[in-house]
Amino acid sequence: LPQHYCAIDAQHSNREAIMSVRTLLLLIFAAPALLLGGAKALGMAFPVPEWGREYVLRFSFVQEVPDLELPEIQGPRDTMRPLVVIDAGHGGRDPGKVQRRPGGTEVYEKDIVLALSLELRDALLENGGIRVAMTREDDRIIPLAYRPEIARLLEADLFVSIHIDSAGDRSEVSGATVYTLSNEASSEAAARFAERENAADSLNGITVETNNSEVSDILVELSQERTQEDALKMADLILREGRGQINFHPFAKRSAELAVLRAPDVPGVLFESGFVTNDDDLEKLMSQEGRGDYVDVLERAIRVYLARRAET
Ligand SMILES: [Zn+2]
Repeated sequence: LPQHYCAIDAQHSNREAIMSVRTLLLLIFAAPALLLGGAKALGMAFPVPEWGREYVLRFSFVQEVPDLELPEIQGPRDTMRPLVVIDAGHGGRDPGKVQRRPGGTEVYEKDIVLALSLELRDALLENGGIRVAMTREDDRIIPLAYRPEIARLLEADLFVSIHIDSAGDRSEVSGATVYTLSNEASSEAAARFAERENAADSLNGITVETNNSEVSDILVELSQERTQEDALKMADLILREGRGQINFHPFAKRSAELAVLRAPDVPGVLFESGFVTNDDDLEKLMSQEGRGDYVDVLERAIRVYLARRAET
């Protein structure tokens, strides 16, 4: 099967040009999708990777959330540079995990993950080559649904959400974990996106006018599969780069139904840096020096991920 490559600049100003590109796009995308649909009907299966490492899909859906203010993109002006969205968990009225320290002071997850996120941003910007956007840069509440939506609307290459876990009374439980969206949740999300997709189809910002819901269903599914594969690669890289430098939980790679990872076209991981309920983890995460190791590991993983992605 032929490889398809699609990198379309959606910033056309000419309406006529959009129309012709749109028609062309529909043909380019519909052909393999219909082929796949036919193959599916005949009971054949094509593993996605085989027919398109370079098959890149982006979907623009109708915005669910009103008044979504997109954050500023920081770093190089060159839009060809990869873009990472860093999501500091919680904020504002939502403190996240709360841990009482000896002496009665309370430590909030939202504060520690914000510090870690800002330090990661600074490291990425300082060492250059990567654009960064933050879902929040201060102590404010950002609805869960906004967070992946920000990454989607900015057409980010990667979404990294940063949190800290809690193990309740089990203070001995420690170490970082990396979550990706579970397959069940991801195909569920894909189905829902597909539903909305039928109302307003769009690929690379260009609307596809089709009444064939099967075509758009398949396109969303393909995009979702590729996205999940990439998210798992990122999770593996964090584990690889972190070995020997930060403490991981014995079961450090997990998947779950996390709303914050439900973007069908932006690979995302949720990094639980450790446990607030573990003294060693908390002490490390509360000092800038201690966080430095987490920043190092995440930065290396992000850079390797983006470099590999650029090669394929
Ligand atoms: Zn959290």
